[in-house]
Amino acid sequence: MRLIVIGGDAAGMSAASQARRRLGPGELEITAYERGEYTSYSACGIPYWVGGLVDGPDGLIARDPAAHRDNDIDVYTGHEVTGIDLKARTVTVHDRAESFDHLMYAAGATPVRPAWADTPARGVFGVQTLGDAAALQKWLEPGRDSAVVIGAGYIGVEMAEALQRRGLRVTLVERSGQPMSTVDPDMGALVADAIRGLGVVLRTGVTVQGLETDGGRVRAVVTDDGVLPADVVVLGLGVRPNTALADAAGLPLGVTGALATDLRQRVTGPDGIVDGVWAAGDCTQVTHLVSGRPSHIPLGTHANKQGRVAGINIGGGYATFPGVIGTAVTKICDLEVARTGLSSKEAEAAGFRFVTATVESTNRAGYFPGAVPMTVKVIAEKDTGLLLGAQIVGRAEAAKRIDAFAVAVWNRMTVTEMTALDLGYAPPYAPVWDPILIAARKASDAL
Ligand SMILES: Cc1cc2nc3c(=O)[nH]c(=O)nc-3n(C[C@H](O)[C@H](O)[C@H](O)COP(=O)(O)OP(=O)(O)OC[C@H]3O[C@@H](n4cnc5c(N)ncnc54)[C@H](O)[C@@H]3O)c2cc1C
Repeated sequence: MRLIVIGGDAAGMSAASQARRRLGPGELEITAYERGEYTSYSACGIPYWVGGLVDGPDGLIARDPAAHRDNDIDVYTGHEVTGIDLKARTVTVHDRAESFDHLMYAAGATPVRPAWADTPARGVFGVQTLGDAAALQKWLEPGRDSAVVIGAGYIGVEMAEALQRRGLRVTLVERSGQPMSTVDPDMGALVADAIRGLGVVLRTGVTVQGLETDGGRVRAVVTDDGVLPADVVVLGLGVRPNTALADAAGLPLGVTGALATDLRQRVTGPDGIVDGVWAAGDCTQVTHLVSGRPSHIPLGTHANKQGRVAGINIGGGYATFPGVIGTAVTKICDLEVARTGLSSKEAEAAGFRFVTATVESTNRAGYFPGAVPMTVKVIAEKDTGLLLGAQIVGRAEAAKRIDAFAVAVWNRMTVTEMTALDLGYAPPYAPVWDPILIAARKASDAL
């Protein structure tokens, strides 16, 4: 039996490693193709590498090809798979046909790159791969003073901070009215304050129209509200599932344009499961367990779990990936931002009737050294009291508090049930009423 893996990062190599744990080389030959230079790398660490907080690229690589080969997984970097023949059960790579019994499609996502960004001019960067980040690092030599980051999602916000740390004058441009549109506008306003507090110029409600270039270099970003000088431009406009190869091969795509899978990560379409074809990570759609809707939420945490599930199943075991609840965390300087479940906008779009409750509290007992403010917002279904979502913005110890909410959303708790949760308390860690409990209580009262 032979497993071919397309894509050598989180999803693909998790699948390969799990399959190998269950089946020896005599039972399953595993070959992984990666078009880039690196395997099992952390794109999540790129902003911290660029910002000088961590070393890269080596520090961001969990397992290089040699480590995978030691584990009896054949890895070929610099090898792009250019075709899949489902009938012949082969993939094309470097003009050769390679046969498979199982195919693991883990090609990730493709950054959104509008036509105006397709310029041969130097100085315009995406930050999807370690190669992108290395090219950006090389460009950031002395004399590059001004940067424009386009798109204020979490990657754009993290990159704006990184470039600011590197001493550049940074402008962050966002078409919508707030940064981090994954949180509600009132919480986004707190993020906007933090971005501005850092010295980054934040321009919301501004649309980019093009780039000005000169002598093969980018010089400025042209917007509907003026021209912004730029020695470096970073694109953070989001990603789309990288499914062109799958689509060309006739694999069915889900409603989000990503590959749909069953709970065991087998590619699934209107005609049922596609035999022996598996998919995981940013190229797949997931079920949002609160809205019940198919969604595309490209995150490393999902890619690793889905890859693991696919690998266990390929290796003859049994595992499932039930879906996601939209948990995510990030930070801007020392401001931590977290969310889980549905935002107000998402709850509305999903047809829920709901109440919200927002509380201001602190991370520790108010009298304890280091106590800093924290804002917690809770969204609960009106008729049932079910916790639909929560958001937290605050400084120390704010972000990971979201995990308690995530467990509550996952287990379909009501906010009233949450008020009795036995959470840890001591003055260095929380006020006697943890902000989570205060927010749940306020939502329960509102109901
Ligand atoms: C700057 C940044 C910060 C991030 N921060 C976070 C974070 O804090 N938390 C979080 O959960 N997620 C974060 N993410 C998202 C996370 O990195 C991705 O969700 C995760 O890497 C997805 O894993 P994947 O294996 O599905 O896809 P990828 O990591 O994109 O891997 C797919 C691989 O397939 C290769 N490939 C594609 N097509 C082919 C082909 N035809 N042939 C051969 N190889 C091919 C690509 O080169 C790529 O290496 C961040 C992403 C970025 C860019």
